Amino acid sequence: MDLPVDEWKSYVFQKWSLLPKSIQVTISTAETLSDIFLHSSLLLQPEDEMFLQNLSRGYLVEKDPNAPLFYREEGNKKFQQKDYMGATVLYSKGISHSRPHTADISLCYANRSAALFHLGQHEMCLKDIMRAQMHGYPERLQPKMMLRKAECLVTLGRRQEASQTISDLESSFAAKPTLAAAQFQILQTNLCRLKMKAQEKESLTETFPAALTKALEDMDLKGENGQVPSASSSVSLRTDPLRGRYLVATKDILPGELLVKEDAFVSVLHPGEMPPLRHLESKWDTRVTNGDLYCHRCLDHTLATVPCDGCSYAKYCSHDCMQQAWDLYHSVECSLGGLLLTLGVFCHIALRSTLIARFEDASEVIRKLCGEIRNRDTCSPERETLVQTLTCDLGGESENKGKMLEPPVPGCDLNGKYESNYNAVFHLLPHTGNHSPEHRFLCALSVSALCRRLEAASCYKPAVAVPPGSGSELDVWGVAMLKHVLQLHCNAQAITTIQHTGSKENSVTKSRQVRLATGIFPVISLLNHSCSPNTSVSFISTVATVRASQQIGKGQEILHCYGPHQSRMRAAERQQKLRSQYFFDCSCAACQNEKHSAATGPRWEAFCCRSCGALMQGDDVLICGSTSCTESVSRDHLISRLQDLQQQVGMARKLLRNDEPERAIQLLLGCQRDAQSFLSGEHSLVGEMEDDLAQAYAALGDWQKSATHLQKSLQVVEVRHGPSSVEMGHELFKLAQLFFNGFAIPEALNTIQKAEKVLMVHYGPWNDEIQELQKMKSCLLDLPPIPAGPSVQGPNVFFQ
Ligand SMILES: [Zn+2]
Ligand SMILES: [Zn+2]
Ligand SMILES: [Zn+2]
Ligand SMILES: [Zn+2]
Repeated sequence: MDLPVDEWKSYVFQKWSLLPKSIQVTISTAETLSDIFLHSSLLLQPEDEMFLQNLSRGYLVEKDPNAPLFYREEGNKKFQQKDYMGATVLYSKGISHSRPHTADISLCYANRSAALFHLGQHEMCLKDIMRAQMHGYPERLQPKMMLRKAECLVTLGRRQEASQTISDLESSFAAKPTLAAAQFQILQTNLCRLKMKAQEKESLTETFPAALTKALEDMDLKGENGQVPSASSSVSLRTDPLRGRYLVATKDILPGELLVKEDAFVSVLHPGEMPPLRHLESKWDTRVTNGDLYCHRCLDHTLATVPCDGCSYAKYCSHDCMQQAWDLYHSVECSLGGLLLTLGVFCHIALRSTLIARFEDASEVIRKLCGEIRNRDTCSPERETLVQTLTCDLGGESENKGKMLEPPVPGCDLNGKYESNYNAVFHLLPHTGNHSPEHRFLCALSVSALCRRLEAASCYKPAVAVPPGSGSELDVWGVAMLKHVLQLHCNAQAITTIQHTGSKENSVTKSRQVRLATGIFPVISLLNHSCSPNTSVSFISTVATVRASQQIGKGQEILHCYGPHQSRMRAAERQQKLRSQYFFDCSCAACQNEKHSAATGPRWEAFCCRSCGALMQGDDVLICGSTSCTESVSRDHLISRLQDLQQQVGMARKLLRNDEPERAIQLLLGCQRDAQSFLSGEHSLVGEMEDDLAQAYAALGDWQKSATHLQKSLQVVEVRHGPSSVEMGHELFKLAQLFFNGFAIPEALNTIQKAEKVLMVHYGPWNDEIQELQKMKSCLLDLPPIPAGPSVQGPNVFFQ
């Protein structure tokens, strides 16, 4: 997804392998990015562009005039089945394919308003009603929609507007007396009923966007950092030859302290993990992807998307976001949707970065790029070194050509300030020399193809203002984009969110971290990697926050994890991953420790002795760790038993999904007995089985049993991830839900407190789960004392 689609990748690799040796050598040994780009770009033939264009056509990114009716009917089916969420998404798809001011778009908006109404999303419902009217909703259908409007207004406590709406309806009925009498009575009764309802829920009117703004304001950094404005005053930017640039604590830092709060310089939403439609039977896609649920600019979750007027692909949370995206970059990107999906997220980010740079003073950066291109044909030895230092791997270490000034830290401005701007982005390292020649060729050819399309597109406006006589604007643009594509390999930051899965009836949800988008965060890019980091990164909208996940002493380096975390991978696997993607050998504390520790491997992968239960040790043949026991067994045998067991557990999960909890429990209990004879009690699969059992019992409404199993799963999670890990926080959150549902009040309050404490460190106060926990707490504290007794099925209100 980050890189181009496989078809284009293999096409380019084949093209590379068929190039004459001499040309391969020229490109492989090219000194600068501009050489790589310009040589490759000359090789892009019209048939290559045709091939790419055909691939791009596989994506449905334009507005298809026949699609709105299809999606509306599909949405209506879901609506009739009371699947309002599903209906909403399908109506949104219909809207995205409709032209403005057509019956199609107004009908889809109106239908979506009905679905949103049933979902209790009254603010959004009102907005959709307004949109339906704006796009010319038919007069004859108005009354029903107006009633919905009145109902929303009353529910939201806006009774004056509601009365106005009702009286408007009244007068319109007066004009058509045939309808009047019966309809009116219903309306009046409804108004009465709704007035009563409104009084009950007066307090629940804060809307989501307002809450979000508040969340971001509340999350302010402790003290200004004059050098790095997105960081707190508790850290400072340093540089040394070994570590490059890095952040260090200037005072003792407590767990949970906010260290960096940075809005992405650029971000691109991931289109979703589904294959393009060309492999499928149906013409229109009814599958739901992230692209249907999140704003393509601000990444907020939204059920009521507003599409771009020009394409069916870009969708936004609001008209404002749509307008901003259009002004910043989408006016150029709009006609390129299919191509950008084919070329992958990295190319897309590269383009968007240069488009955003138009709004900053990037002239210094551009001047440097131009100089490089201008000079490429007249390379003297001194110039060669100069060009080399100015580009590629040294990332502009000598910003001031004549070395008249003391060179500041790369990416800083002349005053030594490091800001989240294009200058900083430009100085992130592309590690050009570390990429394989084929990979560089792939990136260069992809960017060249993008440049050709930009040139051909009518919306083409130069993204860069080039001083006269310094080569083509498009070449400068291309070189800049190539640099970004290569930088992203090491500097792309995944923007993640926690998605909850599991049915609404089943209150134990499974949460998993999903990648929503990829972005560039110049300040977060300053942080070096550790397999056991001392920070935790989370996101609200496009804003990343870095918090201390443990105590950090004055003078210690601030570290975060690039992905290979010690609780998820063994040292060897991590090293391999870090070397291939980030081009370095990790020597963090966790890697050092593992090198010296025994060959038992991590506890969550350990096998135990079948006769005495002690941990088994060794490589190919495992021997019981207890000195008084002589048991031994081959690793292969245990691995194959483990695989059998995993398969059984997989079947149990399928039963769970198919709503057969009793059968799932039977199967899982059998699996547990099997596991006891060869897996350590802290094996991750043992924990997962406990978690599955908890889910199965919750599905049966047996909260007590469910909680017992979840507590066992919690122990395994604690061993693997640590007591204050984010994983632990999510498990504690689930346990709190169970106790709450079972009315186990003291246990619930106790667990809520623990969960809050852990989650607060990683996410700060505005996390969804923390908000939920607080609601549960106040609900429990408001309850009248109830007599002790067997637990009863609790309300599900908070788990929808
Ligand atoms: Zn938005
Ligand atoms: Zn568009
Ligand atoms: Zn490491
Ligand atoms: Zn033994």
